[in-house]
Amino acid sequence: MDQQTDFDLPVVLSIAGLDPSGGAGTLADVRTILAFGCYPAAVITAITFQNAAGVSGVVAHDSDTLRGQLTPVLSELRVAAVKTGMMPTGEIVREVARTVSHYQLRCLVVDPVMTSTSGYELMDAAAVTELREKLLPLAFLVTPNIPEAERLAGFSVQDEEGMRRAAASIRRLGVRAVLIKGGHLETGSEAVDVLDHDGDITVFRGVRVQNWEFRGTGCALAAGIAACLALGNPLEDSVRRARDYVSEAILAAPKIRGRGILFKPGR
Ligand code: PLP
Repeated sequence: MDQQTDFDLPVVLSIAGLDPSGGAGTLADVRTILAFGCYPAAVITAITFQNAAGVSGVVAHDSDTLRGQLTPVLSELRVAAVKTGMMPTGEIVREVARTVSHYQLRCLVVDPVMTSTSGYELMDAAAVTELREKLLPLAFLVTPNIPEAERLAGFSVQDEEGMRRAAASIRRLGVRAVLIKGGHLETGSEAVDVLDHDGDITVFRGVRVQNWEFRGTGCALAAGIAACLALGNPLEDSVRRARDYVSEAILAAPKIRGRGILFKPGR
C-alpha cells in the first residue's frame, strides 16, 4: 500500500469566504486553526473584494465549484471538525448540508455570517432560510451575534434574558448548542456571551474592548472553538479557550485605518 497512513493531526475544515486582505473569513480561520495546533483545510464559498475600508463586491461560487473543492479533501483527510462562515446563497448552504450528511461530519460549528463588520450583506435571504431548515439541524454549535440571533429566532433581543430565550428558540431548529455573542448589547463595560448546550446555560463575562472595531473576531472565535473540539475538549472549555485566544489576539492586534485585525504573530 503506497498511501500515507500516519497522518494523525486533528484536521479542521473551514468552509468560508475568502477575504484576500486577511482580516476575516478563510485566512482568519486558518491562522486560528494553526494557533491551536490543528491542521487547517479550507474550502472557499465566495471571493470577496475588501480591505480595512470595507467590502466592495462578492463573487459567489456555485454548488459544483464547492463540491469540486470538498470531494478531494473529504475523500483523503479525516476531518475532526468543520467550521462554516460566509455562505452567500441558498445553493451553497444546501450543498454544505448535503456534504455534512453524506460524510457524516458530526462536529459542525456554524458561524452564521450575515453582514460584514462594515455593513455589507454577505448572505442572501434564501441562504438564511436554508441555514435554518437544512444546516442547523445537522450542526453541533451555532455562534450568532445579536442581529444574527434575532434573525434566526424571529424576535428582538434586548438583554441577557432575551439572549437565553433566543438561544432556546434557535436550539429548537435542531442544533445541539447555541452561543449568542452579546457584543452588540448595551451592557456597559462587560461583554456577555450566553451558551445554551442542550438546555444547560453557561454565561461568559469579559471586559468589553472599547474604541476599536475589529475584523475577524467572529471567525476566530468559531474557528478556535472548532479547533478545541477537534482536540477533544468539551464544549464549555472550548468556548472558554477560544474566548481567551480572541481576547489575547485583540490586545496584540495590528490596526489598519482604525480597524484592528486579529493576528497573533508566531515565530
Ligand atoms: N467572512 C468573510 C468572508 C467576511 O468578509 C466577513 C466580514 O467582512 C466575515 C466572515 C465576518 O467577519 P467577523 O469575524 O468580523 O464577524
